[in-house]
Amino acid sequence: MIDDSIFSEHLQALKAEGRYRIFVDLERLAGQAPYALWHSPMGLKKVTVWCSNDYLGMSQHPAVIEAMKKAATKYGVGSGGTRNISGTAHPHVILEQEVADLHGKEKGLIFTSGYNANEATISTLAQGLPNCVILSDEKNHASIIQGIRAARCERRVFRHNDLGDLRANLSSLDPKRPKMIAFISVYSMDGDIAPIEAICDLADEFKAITYLDEVHAVGLYGSQGAGVAAERGVQDRIDIIQANFAKAYGVMGGYVTGSRTLIDYVRSAASGFIFTTSLPPPVVAAIHQSIRILRQDYTLRKQLWQRVDLLKYRLEKSGLPYQRATSHIVPVVVGNAIHCQNVCDLLREDYGIYVQPINYPTVPRGQERIRLTVTPAHTIEMIHTLCDALEDVWDRLNLYLAA
Ligand code: PLP
Repeated sequence: MIDDSIFSEHLQALKAEGRYRIFVDLERLAGQAPYALWHSPMGLKKVTVWCSNDYLGMSQHPAVIEAMKKAATKYGVGSGGTRNISGTAHPHVILEQEVADLHGKEKGLIFTSGYNANEATISTLAQGLPNCVILSDEKNHASIIQGIRAARCERRVFRHNDLGDLRANLSSLDPKRPKMIAFISVYSMDGDIAPIEAICDLADEFKAITYLDEVHAVGLYGSQGAGVAAERGVQDRIDIIQANFAKAYGVMGGYVTGSRTLIDYVRSAASGFIFTTSLPPPVVAAIHQSIRILRQDYTLRKQLWQRVDLLKYRLEKSGLPYQRATSHIVPVVVGNAIHCQNVCDLLREDYGIYVQPINYPTVPRGQERIRLTVTPAHTIEMIHTLCDALEDVWDRLNLYLAA
């Protein structure tokens, strides 16, 4: 047996810093969102979930559940292998056509997660471009960063959403070198949105490939839920649009869309695509149903935005340190890991409100926060209850003074 004491020291250090991750044991019951049952040390307790990425509650949509059940009965529950070895099923093929059509691209390719899609696609494309340099927004997601690391090419990190810094980086590079700008539309920890059009202008000027992660935008932005690039009419200026099926679409899996050749190259060369079992057909059927619904029905999104507006209005009035950003994501900065854990514990134990603390390295030290996400299932009354509880907790922990 190995001596694992070094790992317990690492864990102790995380605990001392307040960064030790505690998973809250919940049962989310279909049809009862945003409530869930918490398996607490004192027994089962009902809590209201305020941090889910199932932004529209599609994971519990009756038609989506039905699609999954039907497909399981028809196809069984597993895909049978990797896409090369008997794991391509008709549901995969038609879902890829659907996402390509959604984004106005020639081809789509689906992956087992958004992380997998970013890592595999970025590393593969960059390896296929000799002497490539990737320009990466400093707030890019871990999966993009991991893809760039795996590409083993030069990386230039530009300041978050900073066009001047991006330009400075681009203009310092040899014009003949292949370049890729990797960025996100909706940044999930700050809730802000990238200046996509202006980044496309720079990409045109410096002949760079554009790679856009729309994970937190698909299903929500644009008339058919194709994301922020679609909403702003610039989809055709993005070379590769990446997103996932786990947020607004409520299921799981990821994808990329782009030109026939780019996608065919990723399909043919990406280890992270080739050597892993494909998504189960019932999961794919559920995703497809969710996309179809959100392409034509705006009702849930309308309800979402009404609730987002009310939540922001209440937080503004209460003087709580919420980050004023334009997206549906509402971060409230606590600024200290231990305080952040205390806020979450008090909210859950005394008010039946469940949120997770967000710590380093997801956000920089000193920027620890809670990240509120409201859904159509949250009532107006629940929003007021949440804000009253936050005000109370901020008072009880003296956080107004600490700020
Ligand atoms: N990209 C961004 C911006 C994300 O926030 C996430 C996950 O939260 C991912 C990619 C990875 O997606 P998935 O959870 O499907 O692996």
